[in-house]
Amino acid sequence: MDDRLQDRALGAYWGLALGDALGATVEFMTAEEIRDTHGRHRHLCGGGWLHLAPGQVTDDTEMSLVLGQALLMDDVWSVRRFAEGMAAWLRAGPVDVGNTCRRGIRRFIVDGSLSAPPGTWDAGNGACVRMLPVVLATLEHPGLGCTMGLEQAHFTHNHPMSDLGILCLGEMLRSALRGESLASIRTQAERLQTACPEFDCTVLPVSPTPYIVDTVRTVLHAVLNTGNFYDCLLLVVNQGGDADSTGALAGMLAGAIYGREGLPEQWLRRLVPGVKERIREQTGALLRWGERQRGLAAPGDSSAPGLLFYEKPGCRTNAGQRARLHAAGFGLDVQNLLQTPWTVETLRPFFGKRPVPEWFNPNSPRIKSREVDPAVLDEKMAISAMLEDPLLIRRPLISLGALKTSGFTPDVVAFWTLVQPKRYGRSLGAVSDTCQQLPLQSTGLPGAGLGFTAADAASPAGPNCP
Ligand code: MN
Repeated sequence: MDDRLQDRALGAYWGLALGDALGATVEFMTAEEIRDTHGRHRHLCGGGWLHLAPGQVTDDTEMSLVLGQALLMDDVWSVRRFAEGMAAWLRAGPVDVGNTCRRGIRRFIVDGSLSAPPGTWDAGNGACVRMLPVVLATLEHPGLGCTMGLEQAHFTHNHPMSDLGILCLGEMLRSALRGESLASIRTQAERLQTACPEFDCTVLPVSPTPYIVDTVRTVLHAVLNTGNFYDCLLLVVNQGGDADSTGALAGMLAGAIYGREGLPEQWLRRLVPGVKERIREQTGALLRWGERQRGLAAPGDSSAPGLLFYEKPGCRTNAGQRARLHAAGFGLDVQNLLQTPWTVETLRPFFGKRPVPEWFNPNSPRIKSREVDPAVLDEKMAISAMLEDPLLIRRPLISLGALKTSGFTPDVVAFWTLVQPKRYGRSLGAVSDTCQQLPLQSTGLPGAGLGFTAADAASPAGPNCP
C-alpha cells in the first residue's frame, strides 16, 4: 500500500481525535469566554463541561470507532451491525451523546428500525462526524461510500441538509486522502457555495451551533484560510460553540491534507493511548477493506450510488435522462412513477420550495387541454390532483436519501453533479452558472432558506411523451 496514503489516512483519523479532544475543553463557550479563560486555547488540557482528562476524546471520535469496528466485522457493509454497535456503545455509558443520536439509538433498541423518519430538527452535525471510516474504506468507490454514508447517517439524522453536508465533506475528504491539493478542496467548496449559497465560507461563524451548515462553513473557512494543521485547529476551536465537533471535522480534513507529519507532537503525546492505538489499527484495516472491495465491485458499476428514478415506462425523454445519469456513473433504481403508491408525505418533499405550477408536467394531456390549471391550485389541491392522476407530476422524480428533486432542469442536473462531482466531471461547468439555488425541500430551519429559481425549459418532456 502507498506509504503516503497511509500517512494521510493516519493524519486524518488521529487529526479527528485531536480536534475532538482539543475542542471539547471549550465546547459551548463563546469566543469571548474562551479568550478570558484561556487566552488562545492551544493545549490538550481536558476539563470543559464534561470534566475530561487531558487528551480524552468524546462521542465524535467514539462513534467513528464504533462505525469502523462494525464495518471491519465483514467485507459486506451492514447498517444493522453499525446500529448494534451504537446500541452497545450507549449501554456502556459514554461520556457524552448528542440528543439526535441518543434518540436514534433508542428508537432502534425499541423497534429495531434502522432509519430515522425525516425530521426538521435532524440537521445537526452528529452524522457527519462519523464519515471518516466510511471514506477510508471506500477511497476508490465513491458510490459505495455515498450509499454507506447516507445509511449510517439516517440511523440518527434524516435531513437533506445533513445529507448534503455529509456527501460534500465526504468528497473533499476523499480528494484530500487521495493526495489532491488544497486548491482542489477550494474548488469543491466553491461549487458547494455556488449551488447552495447558504454554505458561504468566506466569513467565519461566531460560536457555531451544531447545525450542519454552521459546522461546514466553520470547517471550510478554517481549512481554506490556514496553511497547516495547528493553525487550522486553533482557528476552529477558539470560535467555541460546538467546538469538539467542528474540531473533529477540521482535524480529519486538515489531517488528510497535511498528513501524519503535520500533527503537532505535543498534542499526539497527550492523546489517550488506547484511543491512539485503536485508531492506528483501524486506519490500516479500513484501507485494506477498501482494497478488497476492488475485487468485489467494479467502480462505476455496482459501486455507483443508487438513485431512485421514477419515470413513466416507455417515456423516451425519461430514457434519455436515465442514460445521461448512467453515463455519469450513477447507479439507477428505476421505478414506475405511475404505479408507485404515492401519499402526501412521500410526494410533497420532491417539490421543495418550487412554486406550485412548477410541480406539474406541462406536457400532460389534462394540462395542455387546460382541464387542469396549475396556476389556480394551492399546495393541497395540487398534491391531491397528482395522487389521482400521476401523469400530472413533473418527472422524473429522483431521490437519494433525503435528497429529492423533480424534473430534469439544469439546476437539478447541477445538484446531482454536486453530490457526485467525480463522476459528473466536465458537464459541471456548463450547468453551474445557471444554478444558484438547490431544489431541496423546505427545511423550516432558521437560515435554511433554500429557494428555487424559475423552472428552465431546457429539457422538457418531449412532445410525444405526455
Ligand atoms: Mn462531542
